[in-house]
Amino acid sequence: MPAFPSREVRLASRPVGMPAPEHFELADAAAREPATGEVQVRNLWMSVDPYMRGRMYDRPSYVPPFQVGEALQGGAIGEVVASAAEGFAPGDLVSHMLGWREAVTAPAAIFEKLPRDAGVPAQAFLGVLGMPGMTGYGGLLEIGEPKEGETVFVSGAAGAVGSLVCQIAKIKGCRVVASCGSDAKAEWLKSRGVDAVINYRTAGDLTAALRAAAPKGVDVYFDNVGGDHLEAALECARPFARFVECGMISQYNNTEPTPGPSNLTYIVGKSLRIQGFIVTQFAPLRDRFIADMAGWIREGKVAWEETVLEGVDKAPEAFLGLFKGGNTGKMLVRLA
Ligand code: NAP
Repeated sequence: MPAFPSREVRLASRPVGMPAPEHFELADAAAREPATGEVQVRNLWMSVDPYMRGRMYDRPSYVPPFQVGEALQGGAIGEVVASAAEGFAPGDLVSHMLGWREAVTAPAAIFEKLPRDAGVPAQAFLGVLGMPGMTGYGGLLEIGEPKEGETVFVSGAAGAVGSLVCQIAKIKGCRVVASCGSDAKAEWLKSRGVDAVINYRTAGDLTAALRAAAPKGVDVYFDNVGGDHLEAALECARPFARFVECGMISQYNNTEPTPGPSNLTYIVGKSLRIQGFIVTQFAPLRDRFIADMAGWIREGKVAWEETVLEGVDKAPEAFLGLFKGGNTGKMLVRLA
């Protein structure tokens, strides 16, 4: 079986502040013929995700840093081209973490076979039925513990994680208040049943806007943004509110230490619970997550949007778009 032609995106240099196209380089790198125990895969889809910004810093974290001059990594869905490993055959659909390239040859253990008959397109395993779906499901239900009739505030609400959190909170009988960065995104969220949406770019005083949208206060805050959103949520939190600290995208490109919200003292006075998490801790919930989410999709209770760029050369643009609000729903790159 011959090598499979491939291009890959490498980290050209470590960004300081907002990343730019010059921090990436496109290179040729064929996927070699598989040796015993290996599988050769042609990638169909790859994911770009905000956490990848963290991997561009050279510092210890829960995932190792990307290396300058080497291909980036991340979630991908591919099709087996050739296999020298038991259990994999040409045509199998697989999920793995060697995205940012058109094809790859690697040990079989890194690939997970996906069902062909799941009733969703393959790329759904990078979104609603993949890592972002699990993040929203586990974060909201396990940490947020929403109860019927409570108010849930979601920032970054029109993105991959946020849009699913909004819909799961509606399924649980909550009143959902969302924040996002455009009127078009706000309209889409309302079409999915969100009760009130704040366009934070035009709202002016965010705390005043949140108070108006959540007059009884916030019981659960699902934080994707941090900064002024966290401050507004602290201001509007009800006693014993739960804060699900999923991400703080407003701070990922900061070059200076950011002052914290000025009103952290509410944590004491309102008896707040503020808890962060990394999605991998929800691995034991996986079967329940897939069953629930697949059911909600079948019943029409959960829908999703995708923003798709075409070709591995567009992967940096897709990634950079995450920090400019360029996506509604899941940001994806189609590779084949
Ligand atoms: P996403 O929401 O699909 O994409 C990022 C969105 O963030 C953009 O579309 C943009 O939408 C918004 N944004 C960017 N910069 C912003 C800023 N300065 N202020 C306010 N909003 C900003 O991304 P995602 O994959 O679903 O991730 C959402 C969050 O969850 C991120 O913080 C991510 O790091 C986090 N996350 C955490 C885990 C975990 O294990 N803890 C796992 C996955 C994701 P607007 O147009 O609305 O600005």
